[in-house]
Amino acid sequence: MKGFGVFEKGKVGWMEKADPVCGPRDAIARPIAIAPCSSDVHSAYELEGEHLKNRILGHECIGEIIEVGSEVKDFKVGDRVIIPAVTPTWTHPDIQDSYHQHAGGLLTGINFSSYEDGTFADKIKIRSADMNLALLPDDISLEAACMIPDMMTTGFLGPELAEVKFGDTVLVAGIGPVGLMAVAGSKLMGAGKLIAIGTRPNCVELAKEYGATDIVSYRDGDIAEQIMDLTNGKGVDAAIVAGGDLDTFYKCIAVTKPGGNIANLNVFTEISSFNIPVDAIASFVGHKTLKGGLCPGGRKRMERLLSMVQAGRVDPSKLVTQKFYGFEAIEDAFNLMVDKPRDLIKPVVLID
Ligand SMILES: [Zn+2]
Repeated sequence: MKGFGVFEKGKVGWMEKADPVCGPRDAIARPIAIAPCSSDVHSAYELEGEHLKNRILGHECIGEIIEVGSEVKDFKVGDRVIIPAVTPTWTHPDIQDSYHQHAGGLLTGINFSSYEDGTFADKIKIRSADMNLALLPDDISLEAACMIPDMMTTGFLGPELAEVKFGDTVLVAGIGPVGLMAVAGSKLMGAGKLIAIGTRPNCVELAKEYGATDIVSYRDGDIAEQIMDLTNGKGVDAAIVAGGDLDTFYKCIAVTKPGGNIANLNVFTEISSFNIPVDAIASFVGHKTLKGGLCPGGRKRMERLLSMVQAGRVDPSKLVTQKFYGFEAIEDAFNLMVDKPRDLIKPVVLID
């Protein structure tokens, strides 16, 4: 098989590898839509390790099944499917008392481009096909579908972790694609005032479209002061961190009310420790809960998100700002993620 990946830290390109072998519960798919992600760029240029040597990248993909294992019941060759970014085996007993993302060990649910090759390949092996894949309905566009495996499921995790309730004042820090989905998810979960922090004009417009009632920009002064002003000095019930630096993170904690939740969706790779200001947590007696979580995967999660798109509750295709065509264009789309032009929210590659 052929794929685009990382040979070693900082060195990316096309590679030829042996075809994946389809186990009894697995499926093999060819990609029909792929979205590169900031995580792919981190894996290529920032992270290091044996698992990132000669590794095909990618984890956001819609595929067409070309082979199924002997024990796969619900999928057949030719089916178009959503392939989640997180694909646990669902066979470890930890599933019964833990999070599927970590059943059997920390981060074991992230198979693509870590334990095995990712989705920037002409042949993609999906383990536990019946438990991980979701059939793509004909009435959902590839652009919308391709935002479900990571952007939508991760963004929606924000208000879930933050336990947003009807009428809550919610803050979303960072309105890249994940933050924008966190805004949309918070609105659907009943947010009242919904404040988003961001500056890029197209992201600000889309945040308002997805439900933000107020926008706070770093350019207009201290963000914490602006948020306290917008909430009459009370702060927010829930804060979702989907971007920004450590200072933003600490300010999100600081502006959260006593009893409120702070949900982090960022993956912090470049720091070795947190140094949370004591004021932000009210001398650690402020009854503030800080949580962080990883992209939920699996079939049911994908089917639930699909049903929301199908019912018109949210249109994640609005995140797609750049389109590429053909398998080879994965390289151009990946390079666009590296360059991150100001008008970029999310690129997709559509493959015949
Ligand atoms: Zn991703």
